[in-house]
Amino acid sequence: MVSARNPPRYVCVIGAGPSGLVAARELRKEGHTVVVVEQNHDVGGQWLYEPKVEGEDPLGKGKALNVHSSMYESLRLTSPREIMGFTDFPFLIKKGRDTRRFPGHKELLLYLKDFCEWFGLREMIRFNTRVEYVGMLDYGEFGKDLRWVVETRAKDSDKVVSEVFDAVVVATGHYSQPRLPSIKGMSAWRRKQMHSHLYRVPEPFRDQVVVVVGNSLSGQDISMELVNVAKEIHLSSKSLHVSEGLSKVISKHDNLHLHPIIECLHEDGRVEFVDGSWVIADTIIYCTGYSYSFPFLDTKGAVAVDDDRVGPLYEHTFPPNLAPSLSFIGIPRKIIGFPFFESQAKWIAQLLSGKRTLPSKDEMMKSIQEFYKAREAASIPKHNTHDIAEFEYCDKYADFVGFPHLEEWRKELCISALVNSDVNLETYRDCYDDEDLLQVAKKSPHFTQLEPEAFCSL
Ligand SMILES: Cc1cc2nc3c(=O)[nH]c(=O)nc-3n(C[C@H](O)[C@H](O)[C@H](O)COP(=O)(O)OP(=O)(O)OC[C@H]3O[C@@H](n4cnc5c(N)ncnc54)[C@H](O)[C@@H]3O)c2cc1C
Repeated sequence: MVSARNPPRYVCVIGAGPSGLVAARELRKEGHTVVVVEQNHDVGGQWLYEPKVEGEDPLGKGKALNVHSSMYESLRLTSPREIMGFTDFPFLIKKGRDTRRFPGHKELLLYLKDFCEWFGLREMIRFNTRVEYVGMLDYGEFGKDLRWVVETRAKDSDKVVSEVFDAVVVATGHYSQPRLPSIKGMSAWRRKQMHSHLYRVPEPFRDQVVVVVGNSLSGQDISMELVNVAKEIHLSSKSLHVSEGLSKVISKHDNLHLHPIIECLHEDGRVEFVDGSWVIADTIIYCTGYSYSFPFLDTKGAVAVDDDRVGPLYEHTFPPNLAPSLSFIGIPRKIIGFPFFESQAKWIAQLLSGKRTLPSKDEMMKSIQEFYKAREAASIPKHNTHDIAEFEYCDKYADFVGFPHLEEWRKELCISALVNSDVNLETYRDCYDDEDLLQVAKKSPHFTQLEPEAFCSL
């Protein structure tokens, strides 16, 4: 729906990761005045690798996290670079850089830095500044003309600065706050326990017996890296029916063993599994995922995190009572991230300018309830509320704002990488069989839209 335009809004975007950067660009394009507040010294979010993790609680239980990035040194993309880029800024191969299809994390950081240069985004960003509080001005007047108080603190300063904005876009990511299992004996176990959030390199685990809990992406990657240095790796998994790729890895390495989940931890160092088997371990690394957390946000209960469901949020983006002046980018998981963030950013920007309008609060709440019911009917646990895992949703979302649908080649390249990783876990980033698809992608407007000379001059 298109309506009359509002005056430009003064908007605070929290976070200068991929979501925050594309939000800033879209908001400015729509005529708004934008301030991006970023706690770190540079852009990139998760992709700004942080090697120094000393001082952080190993299980991430401290009051406030100091380390945002959960990337380890050897991390390479799990998806091919061709599908990663924002729609108008392809993730091209650049001479002298990491030219692999599944490059290391640094290459994606460089891509994001290029994105910033190309669109002149840096001038909007206040670095080394953390948002400590976001709350409503004149609370009590829900809805119309809602404004927001944002309190920030610069690094190494005690001074809190307070400012009022017309709108706040939360783009703080959700792969930093460790999600931990609850295991009998965990608090009494005296050896090293840590979350993968703080895993960086394998060397500290040389000759150790390590239990890795969780066999999704990080658990698999870290186990495969540890086989070359640790004495034994015991991978504890919810199910012993693992992918063909992981089975191959386990049968190839004598020091990598698969176990069911942990029953309890004993004070003498034993880690006992539910099948009665046990090992004496030096370290347990929990690769058990992350929780949504917005410690700065005070919405008087209008948005809450309950068992990793952030809600109520209309289309994972807008709290019906506070929209569009409060919005979230990047909440959905298991999607092709960057183009989706871009469509969210466009929708937010156009709602704030009045180019589009949302349904009524009641209609949004109804839609959310229907979504929850459908998830329950499909036996999807609450903590997986934001796991999308379907391209159709991205296309449906795009239609809200007239954003292009995902290109067929993007979908197919994504699937082909997933299938390959399932079967060839150790090699899928270097050996693939999708040359035909790749050629289609390379000839598509997405890759031919930029003048190569102009881009190379960045
Ligand atoms: C180990 C790992 C591997 C991954 N691999 C892939 C992959 O291969 N492909 C893929 O598409 N995605 C991958 N991801 C997901 C990745 O998180 C997203 O690609 C992307 O970084 C999400 O962008 P974002 O901007 O939403 O959040 P983030 O990148 O997390 O950025 C959030 C920003 O907000 C800032 N911030 C947070 N709180 C505050 C505050 N209070 N005040 C000020 N600033 C704040 C942070 O410093 C950060 O800069 C991976 C994630 C992890 C952890």
